[in-house]
Amino acid sequence: MSAPRVYADFNDLPGPTDSDQRMRLSYWGSLCDLARQRIRLRDGMPITVYDSSDGDEDMEVDGIARYNVSAADIRFAWYVEIEPATFRRVAPPMRELASTILTCFHCGVHLDGLLTSVDASTRCPRCGGGVLDFLHSSEGDLA
Ligand SMILES: [Zn+2]
Repeated sequence: MSAPRVYADFNDLPGPTDSDQRMRLSYWGSLCDLARQRIRLRDGMPITVYDSSDGDEDMEVDGIARYNVSAADIRFAWYVEIEPATFRRVAPPMRELASTILTCFHCGVHLDGLLTSVDASTRCPRCGGGVLDFLHSSEGDLA
């Protein structure tokens, strides 16, 4: 099983001596990647986070998606517990779409220009689906 690959800002990569080996998934690029790949996050799911480096390589690190039930805003509820030993540099895969364009999780329409802001209650103007539905933990939902 291959883990989904989702953007995170590696400026926030924890140092080897940090006790807290966590990276948030609240970046705009993270939301765009999750929506485009139609990934519904689950607590405990394996996930690979990446960022581009100055060279022609991407940085990647593997981890486990975690849900913070006490987060006030669903956009900030998810983080990744990273496994620092898996850090690596890889050739960037081809991207069919800029990673900063948000698409609808449900119907795939490009939401650029259709929305002025995005929060937990934002709905797609085309299909009416919740734009950030993929952030709602589907715990107990095995489908
Ligand atoms: Zn839609």
